[in-house]
Amino acid sequence: MTTKELKGIPVLKGFVDRSGRVPTISVWCPFCKEFHIHGWPKSLETFNAQKYGQHRVAHCTNQESPFKNRGYLIKEFTKKEYAEISRRKNECQ
Ligand SMILES: [Zn+2]
Repeated sequence: MTTKELKGIPVLKGFVDRSGRVPTISVWCPFCKEFHIHGWPKSLETFNAQKYGQHRVAHCTNQESPFKNRGYLIKEFTKKEYAEISRRKNECQ
C-alpha cells in the first residue's frame, strides 16, 4: 500500500505486550467495544511503518463496523504517551 492509499484509513493506537514469544498489540475498537489483538513485529523497521502505522484487516465482530471495508492502521502508543497515561493514572489513585 502506498502512503496515498493509506489516507483516510483510521488509526487505532494500542498497547504492546512483549512478554510472549510473539509480541501482540491490543487496540480498543469503538464499534465492537472490545480490544482487538493483533500480532506485532519485534521492531518496526521502516520509517513508514512508524509514521503511518501498520495496516491490518479488521478483527471486527460487529458487522456494521466501518473498519470492515478497509481495515485500520495500528500504531503503538509512544513512550511519551505511555508516560502521560501512567502520570494520569497516578493522579487518580
Ligand atoms: Zn471492531
